[in-house]
Amino acid sequence: MNSPTQVARVAIVTGGSRGIGRAIAVALAQQGWNVCISYIHNSAAAQETAELIQQAGMRALVVKADVASYADTRRLFDESHKAFGRLDALVNNAGIVGGQRSIFDVDEAHLHSVFDANVLGSFYCAAQAANAMSNQKGGQGGAIVNISSAASRTGGMPQEAHYAASKGAVDSMTLALAKELAPHGIRVNAVRPGLIDTEIHEAHGGQATLTKLAPTVPMGRVGTADEVAQVVGFLCGPLSSYIDGALLDVSGGR
Ligand code: NAP
Repeated sequence: MNSPTQVARVAIVTGGSRGIGRAIAVALAQQGWNVCISYIHNSAAAQETAELIQQAGMRALVVKADVASYADTRRLFDESHKAFGRLDALVNNAGIVGGQRSIFDVDEAHLHSVFDANVLGSFYCAAQAANAMSNQKGGQGGAIVNISSAASRTGGMPQEAHYAASKGAVDSMTLALAKELAPHGIRVNAVRPGLIDTEIHEAHGGQATLTKLAPTVPMGRVGTADEVAQVVGFLCGPLSSYIDGALLDVSGGR
């Protein structure tokens, strides 16, 4: 919570309805941020996240917006601006695995669905956040945190090259934008989670897969969404004021 004289900072968290995105939205609210979350299908889950933000004493805005659609992302940022009047951080969290698919079954529409959501969606939102936050364009600077994956450096699960490669692109985008946006007062970093207990793993066996793989993690367990969220909160806030262009692994040593 902020003192009465402090203006609350504002963050947009894409895919804030469930999993890691929800944990990030709640962690930011607990650190005194007003939070706009987006989702694509699950409005009930999005409303639950909004209630958790409000329980932390902060304001919440929920916007249904597909990050794979440039028009939807424009509307997301417009609605957030109308509600809050400022932007201090973007967390590019929305993402999909796209199921398991061998390279021998490559499919144009499938590849587009994964790259459109994970890569193009991150670009669309980063572009709009840059315009809103640039201290050369009337903004006050800020932070962009891209949720990448340890898969970008390990190659990921079997038959998920599409997912690993999309996160490799997110890493590269992070490194490039960190340099381009530093003169605009915007820091750009990525967090690379390892195996985190969320519903995303339904793409490849769900809880059974997590239980099987947990012993292969050096720390001997999967991680929680909150363990990722706390690092994202750090990267959004002033304690990380000299961190730019970092690809931070939150993966239990994996
Ligand atoms: P999750 O539980 O499946 O949640 C995904 C979230 O993204 C949901 O809020 C979903 O909205 C939203 N979403 C999906 N596609 C979207 C789209 N096109 N437009 C807008 N929102 C969309 O996944 P998660 O595990 O929390 O993953 C969050 C991020 O962490 C992803 O980028 C993922 O790649 C990354 N990550 C996760 C892990 C892990 O082990 N869990 C590891 C490494 C990286 P709805 O609720 O409306 O469906």
